[in-house]
Amino acid sequence: MSDNGNYHNRGIETASREEIASLQSRRLKKIVKHVYESNPIYRRLFDGHGVRPEDIQSVEDVRKLPLMNKELLRESYPLGLCCVARDEVREMHMSSGSTGTPVIMPYTDADLDQWAECMARCYRMAGSKTGDAVQITPLFGLFNGGFGMYHGARAAELFIIPAGPGNTARQIQLARDLKTRIFTGVVSYGIRLMEVLQETGQDLPDLEAGIFGAEVFSDSMKSKISQGLGAEVFDIYGMTETGGVGTLGMDCPAHDGLHVWEDHYIVEILDPLTHEPLEDGEAGELVVTALTREALPVIRFRTADLTCIISRDRCDCGRTHLRIAPITGRLDDMLILKGVNFFPKQIEQTLMKIPGAGSNYQIIIEESDGIKEVRVNVEAEDHVTSSVVARALKDSLGFRPKAFVYPLGDLPRQDGKAKRVFYR
Ligand SMILES: [Zn+2]
Repeated sequence: MSDNGNYHNRGIETASREEIASLQSRRLKKIVKHVYESNPIYRRLFDGHGVRPEDIQSVEDVRKLPLMNKELLRESYPLGLCCVARDEVREMHMSSGSTGTPVIMPYTDADLDQWAECMARCYRMAGSKTGDAVQITPLFGLFNGGFGMYHGARAAELFIIPAGPGNTARQIQLARDLKTRIFTGVVSYGIRLMEVLQETGQDLPDLEAGIFGAEVFSDSMKSKISQGLGAEVFDIYGMTETGGVGTLGMDCPAHDGLHVWEDHYIVEILDPLTHEPLEDGEAGELVVTALTREALPVIRFRTADLTCIISRDRCDCGRTHLRIAPITGRLDDMLILKGVNFFPKQIEQTLMKIPGAGSNYQIIIEESDGIKEVRVNVEAEDHVTSSVVARALKDSLGFRPKAFVYPLGDLPRQDGKAKRVFYR
């Protein structure tokens, strides 16, 4: 692959925007037909939205399709959304399920190849060459990290050290003995590795790149890890629902946003409340359509990750696939109550419009027996009654929360960034 430079698939990674759009159009038509014809849940979802496969003719038509979210994937546990016969499934991974029922992602042989292809592009983009030693430290198990990096390293023809997590002293020994060139892991493991190197006064002389992901990653943390490891650090992106680590992309040596593998995924940035598309540069929710997966291709999947499109221009690295900003946060900050989505900020805006209301307030989410109620505590002058507050909130939110008014200065204050939302 020496003539391919730091590309795994130079042709497609540097294809013109027109070529990418035409490939996306063809693949979108095909995948919509596939999910509609093979899975009753998808068929009901599309029928309920009044859209049929023949309505989808080009990439722009993606907006005609219904949105799906993590709830639908959870409700379909274990394999309700699978679009292939069970004997075609070769592997599965699963999200941690820390917030509820887990999500299972099944893979066919072709899906494993697709994953390996995306991940191999990331390895090459990080500068790895055939035969370079890669030390893979995420868990090999239900979590997709270890196996995804393994499948990709096979495709990129690397020397795989399947270390798994933990035992940092042995990791360092292995990396020194086997001349590890690429270290992969979750962000917090990168930090751990850096700390142990510093504590023990060791270094990793052969290390060239660290590929870290699965956790939100600030630029300052990235440069700190880079200095601590003495290696270039890359931010890799992907999630169980899109098919695992590396499927969505990574930043390149220009470090100006994460390239999304657009021949495999259509990404949209939508307003989280109205679901209207946003302009490039505007931050919103990343919505992903998987174009080439067989077993469970998500269609307009709401990732709950907040980002924006930085550029669709050819990058300094030569790649033409669009770039998104590193993920800045999760929409989990958004509250969903009585079927209504809202952000704490909306409550704040409403309260601030009530004459006599103070600036200190609390939003309390009370849950008992699975029923969620919202209670808003606000400081205000004597003439402001709780029914005035509740009515104003009902007009803006669409449901009536419990409201309590306190004299000015009565609610607790905190130093630094104020915590406004509490769960009970
Ligand atoms: Zn680039």
